[in-house]
Amino acid sequence: MHELAATENLLRVVLDEAAKAKARKVTRISLQVGEWSSFVPDCIQFYLGIIAEGTPAEGASLEWETVPTRFECRECGATFGAGDGPIACPACAATRARLISGREFSIVSIEVDGEDPGST
Ligand SMILES: [Zn+2]
Repeated sequence: MHELAATENLLRVVLDEAAKAKARKVTRISLQVGEWSSFVPDCIQFYLGIIAEGTPAEGASLEWETVPTRFECRECGATFGAGDGPIACPACAATRARLISGREFSIVSIEVDGEDPGST
């Protein structure tokens, strides 16, 4: 369900940007979605299709880049990805690690179609 709230925020930002660019239509939205973020891009696409109806973002295609989960060891500073099982540093076996990427949920770019000829 949190995808709906995230999609509403996303749409607000997209429409705001489209208005600033005086765009008639949003054609493409590119996102960065972290593996660790628990957002399911398919759900976002589904919700976007519903809530963008009647807005300039209606029919926009959504694409996303998955950002892999990475940790930094708090003991030795080594960085490593999430594996199966508990988090442990492959270099020193410490279990204290900081998440450094993988929680992203951000807009990379928005493509819009033309300026509104009626505006100045
Ligand atoms: Zn370590």
